[in-house]
Amino acid sequence: MTVFEMARLHLAIGLVLIHLAGVIHNDVYPRNAVKKEGQLPKWIDFTMANIKHSCEGLDCGELRRFMQDELELSAEDQEIVWDRARSIRGEGPRDVAF
Ligand SMILES: [Zn+2]
Repeated sequence: MTVFEMARLHLAIGLVLIHLAGVIHNDVYPRNAVKKEGQLPKWIDFTMANIKHSCEGLDCGELRRFMQDELELSAEDQEIVWDRARSIRGEGPRDVAF
């Protein structure tokens, strides 16, 4: 996996974690994703966010647009993203390392 691919997956995991916390960003564009050298990428600018989001998982419009349309993640990679996010939250049955 290249550094670029890993950064993309980390952004997807971060977005899923944001949604699982009940927040929808509402401004998911490359200008709002930043990465400093040696650090993981992260989302910024939550001025458009809504904190009462009830996420519908893979049916969630924002997640679908980002993971499928923007990142063009395969179904397998989307599963890795969800597994990793659940694992970080202590909800997952398995840990996915990458
Ligand atoms: Zn959602």
